[in-house]
Amino acid sequence: MQQPGNLFVIAAPSGAGKSSLVKALLEVDAQLKLSISHTTRAPRGQEVHGREYYFVSDAEFDRMIAEGAFIEWAQVHGRRYGTSRQAIEARVAAGEDIVLEIDYQGALQIRRQFPAAVLIFILPPSWDELRARLQRRGEDSPDVIELRLRNAAQEMAHVDAFDFVIINEVFERALFDLKTITHSQRLRVAAQRRSRADVFAALGLTPNP
Ligand code: GDP
Ligand code: ADP
Ligand code: 5GP
Repeated sequence: MQQPGNLFVIAAPSGAGKSSLVKALLEVDAQLKLSISHTTRAPRGQEVHGREYYFVSDAEFDRMIAEGAFIEWAQVHGRRYGTSRQAIEARVAAGEDIVLEIDYQGALQIRRQFPAAVLIFILPPSWDELRARLQRRGEDSPDVIELRLRNAAQEMAHVDAFDFVIINEVFERALFDLKTITHSQRLRVAAQRRSRADVFAALGLTPNP
């Protein structure tokens, strides 16, 4: 079934700028809602339960898996992350556009369940810049940064499974690219038929059987 709302799935190696870009996109696009994931990792400095993530114990995560609460989940950097069914199903059915900020394993699971999902990959401009951003962010210890850099090569190797790629060199350019992708999906004929039903009706453009 084609979902009425768009599902935008955004993946990137840690430090590529995914969270910064998505945050900036949400500020200028009131139609977009962010899916809040569950994770077993500990909150970083400014993170708030229910805002960046639902921070849960391993036991709670196990319980949610057993209940089938996750639409996808994956092990990333030694911790588990998952998207709850509740976070997206009702909202997509209601026609809302949802953004998922998840790893490539999760993105591929979403694609199997929602073939119309739009998969976007964000690349850093270079290895040096990726390392510099992780260091500058100042949220992770040196050994965690090394682990994330090692995992980055594996994550980036899956770029060809995605529909779009954005190179986050100049932030404003990357944000413009991201906006262009979300905007173009809303110009699809099926989407315009829903959002501008009045115009189609006035023009007598009933859908072909
Ligand atoms: P970041 O890599 O610095 O953004 O660190 P995060 O801790 O925010 O994210 C860790 C990893 O988990 C990233 O690769 C995310 O893309 C991924 N991730 C976050 N939420 C989800 C989710 O709901 N599902 C999946 N599959 N991956 C997620
Ligand atoms: P991710 O969510 O992919 O791990 P973040 O959004 O946390 O990445 O960005 C990592 C760091 O890089 C942050 O400190 C952020 O401010 C910085 N950053 C993001 N995009 C750019 C850019 N285009 N140029 C320079 N620094 C950037
Ligand atoms: P961080 O610990 O830096 O917040 O996130 C690390 C990685 O986990 C990122 O690549 C992020 O996209 C991914 N991630 C976050 N939430 C989820 C999720 O719900 N599912 C999956 N599969 N990956 C996630």
